[in-house]
Amino acid sequence: LGADPLAERIKEKQKKWKYKIAVLSGKGGVGKSTVAVNLATALAKMGYHVGILDADIHGPNVAKMLGVEKADVLAERMEDGRFEMIPPMNDFLGQTTPIRVMSMGFLVGEDQPVIWRGPLVTKAIKQLLGDVKWGELDFMIIDFPPGTGDEILTVVQNVQLDAAVIVTTPQEVALLDTGKAVNMMKKMEVPYIAVVENMSYLICPHCGNEIDLFGKGGGKKLAEKEGVEFLGDIPIDLKAREASDAGIPIVLYGDTPAAKAFMEIAEKLV
Ligand code: ADP
Repeated sequence: LGADPLAERIKEKQKKWKYKIAVLSGKGGVGKSTVAVNLATALAKMGYHVGILDADIHGPNVAKMLGVEKADVLAERMEDGRFEMIPPMNDFLGQTTPIRVMSMGFLVGEDQPVIWRGPLVTKAIKQLLGDVKWGELDFMIIDFPPGTGDEILTVVQNVQLDAAVIVTTPQEVALLDTGKAVNMMKKMEVPYIAVVENMSYLICPHCGNEIDLFGKGGGKKLAEKEGVEFLGDIPIDLKAREASDAGIPIVLYGDTPAAKAFMEIAEKLV
């Protein structure tokens, strides 16, 4: 089979990443990227050094949510002649430690449809792990595409994951797929598996009461049934879209219900 220098580099680099956390979901649109970005930002707000890798080539939003773009990626020549990418960073005017961001989206044109096949996706992910100057990190957070595809296999084969955070909404259909994601993580022997319930409830802007739109509590029940951790629930927040368009994670808004929920969940993670 011969040596795989890229795999070797990933092995070396991850020695400098203390906790490697996968964020995944059974299905799309449940707020997986929102959770990944806000947990990363919450941890950076607490002073930890955080890197986030957006491994979702079909819907790369992480960079935009964190206010960085492809044009911010620099390259540096290494001693052996190779080039490594330097991840763009954002510290939100000093509110956090600089969060390092790399994205599959940086490897493709913005308006190009992505028609990559398995082997190319695998190679791209390995490069984003092994050909990037990540440096010393307390947390390396990897945001995966929804479902249980090649990207996860590639990472599990190359990176010793410490934890998997699985995002769900309370609806029955989402929970079914979430169960599958939990089981995949169990099979892959990820040592710590946790569920987060997003869009759990709405806080009425008029009376402040909780409105359970989809039946809050499904995520917790699922976690209990599967014997994994339940990290908490995040309300629907009317400011979430505004935050993501502005490139400022909602956890930095401070006073909104979702911001508080994200801080509490991040505190449980550390
Ligand atoms: P996924 O990564 O699972 O596909 P995203 O994180 O991209 O999902 O979120 C999908 C949409 O839902 C985005 O427009 C996002 O702003 C919105 N969203 C996510 N979480 C919340 C929330 N707690 N409250 C309100 N909107 C949310």
